[in-house]
Amino acid sequence: GDPAPVLRVQGLTAHYGRAQILHDLRFSVAPGEVLVLLGRNGAGKTTTLRAVMGLLRPSAGEVRFRGRDVAGEAPFRIARLGMGYVPEERRVFAGLSVEENLEAGRRPARPGLAPWTPERIFALFPNLGRMRRRPGGRMSGGEQQMLAVARTLMGNPSLVLLDEPSEGLAPIIVEAMAEAVLALKREGITVLLAEQNLRFAGAVADRAAILERGTLAWSGGMTALLTDEALRRRYLAV
Ligand code: ATP
Repeated sequence: GDPAPVLRVQGLTAHYGRAQILHDLRFSVAPGEVLVLLGRNGAGKTTTLRAVMGLLRPSAGEVRFRGRDVAGEAPFRIARLGMGYVPEERRVFAGLSVEENLEAGRRPARPGLAPWTPERIFALFPNLGRMRRRPGGRMSGGEQQMLAVARTLMGNPSLVLLDEPSEGLAPIIVEAMAEAVLALKREGITVLLAEQNLRFAGAVADRAAILERGTLAWSGGMTALLTDEALRRRYLAV
């Protein structure tokens, strides 16, 4: 049968104050897969990533990560189990160089896995290597986004959550970001992505889960979605 999913979310419910944002949400991500969460503004994509990472405590439901239910656990504990998170507001340390930013993200690798090092990162993202001494504050938005992804890799995650990595980037940089996501995939890292940009999603994702008002409206292969205009019209702002 299918391999056990890296992440399986079931019955996920979350609130901000008294407002219920996620309603009985379910989806799963298979090992090595890139799954994209799609949906209109306010559908609950960011909230889902925050609830999975433990930054927002779920009110109910299961977040099973590599076989263990982590719902309600603290983010640092979830990170230690091998989950990495790159928030929408790319936070790099402006006063630290690229290399120092990477060192700040370094966490031990799980036994038996080759740890990420700045050298390994620079082999994967040569542009970061060329800027290794540059302060984070003197990089473009796209370069900072790349650095935020690379710094998360230094934590040796097996699953990376990416919140709208293409947002606000020039088209050429969006392409570089898509290459970076595909590079993670080639390294065997599982990716859960929240996106609005359907082109970007189409370039990197294997499968999509469409959210509508905090619940799963549709899930399936990326190709099926890209070839179904009625489906896109119904759930996405296109
Ligand atoms: P976007 O792309 O606009 O970020 P999204 O699909 O990621 O959309 P969320 O950011 O998860 O959507 O927001 C889902 C709902 O939760 C929205 O109605 C939003 O207004 C609400 N919301 C988000 N953050 C908060 C908060 N801190 N307090 C209260 N409500 C919030």
